[in-house]
Amino acid sequence: MSAWLEVKNLDVRFDLGEGGLLRQSQGSIHALSDIDFGLEQGQTVGLIGESGSGKSTLGRAILHLVRPTAGSVHFNGTNLTALREKQMRPYRQQMQMVFQDPFDSMNARMTVGQIIMEPLLLQGIGTSGERRQKAEALLERMGLDRRAMNRYPGQYSGGQRQRIAIARALTTEPQLLVLDEPTSGLDVSMQARILNLLRDLQQEMNLSYVFISHDLGAVSYIAQQIIVLYLGRVVEIAPTATLISRPAHPYTASLMDALPPMVRQGELPHLPPPVGEPPSPVNPPSGCAYHTRCPKAEAICSRERPGLSALGSEHQVACHFPLRDASPMKETVHAQ
Ligand code: ADP
Ligand code: MG
Repeated sequence: MSAWLEVKNLDVRFDLGEGGLLRQSQGSIHALSDIDFGLEQGQTVGLIGESGSGKSTLGRAILHLVRPTAGSVHFNGTNLTALREKQMRPYRQQMQMVFQDPFDSMNARMTVGQIIMEPLLLQGIGTSGERRQKAEALLERMGLDRRAMNRYPGQYSGGQRQRIAIARALTTEPQLLVLDEPTSGLDVSMQARILNLLRDLQQEMNLSYVFISHDLGAVSYIAQQIIVLYLGRVVEIAPTATLISRPAHPYTASLMDALPPMVRQGELPHLPPPVGEPPSPVNPPSGCAYHTRCPKAEAICSRERPGLSALGSEHQVACHFPLRDASPMKETVHAQ
């Protein structure tokens, strides 16, 4: 049986266009290669990876805000990739995106009420009275006063603006939210409030989330399954508890240092954080793209790209030398 949301062999390339007098193509960026995963209704999948790893592109490709170059996205049994834009419209209501720093995506001259009601207005849903009522109810659900309706987003803090953005995304009663770094840039206590609010809303409305962050702590708090991306490829995918207790890819292990102590239980396998910036995706390294920064790399890593292989029923890693602690044989050692 296929999953409620199924991403199959998804590929996204961005053409860098024609440049100069000779109109030579400047090539393309292979932003995503061969992405495969499923998400069940009411669940959260987390996407983690450094800046440029393709997280936002994957979020946008799921919603078909970016057209995949190859592969497909099936939503509740429908192959979205096969639909024309007009046929996509009813699905757009069911899938919404929440961005980081919503102030950027909010028109400063629009009132909070206008911002929240806009998706309903654009889709021609309800009368103006009904739209207002819905917006007010959502504002209150977000813990904001309904008097916010006539105010401007500039009068609110980052955390409040993020809640306004979530209210806006929920007006069309979507089933799937792609949350792109929704807690980045907020202080720790505000991050926790937003994460808890998202968890409560998920339960109340049976929402499914694709939760994007470079912060493994936030992702592991909200997601049941985590996908680790490196230069547009999945390097590891696992249930959250497995990934943070037995990371198998050296890259995943290098992200463990950033985990807050409350999430790190006991002595987790971890490696020092990766050195420097990731290489350019325009011209990625040969073999395993991580080999240039990997403390475990050997000669084969620069020659052959490792495919994803299964470590457990839901745990896959793309590495020639996965960390030994990830071996299912060691499971009992960590289960104490
Ligand atoms: P992340 O969200 O993980 O930081 P992105 O998905 O934004 O990563 O970007 C992945 C790669 O694709 C980056 O190299 C980025 O420069 C490139 N990219 C993203 N969007 C475009 C676009 N519209 N045109 C060209 N390149 C893009
Ligand atoms: Mg991004």
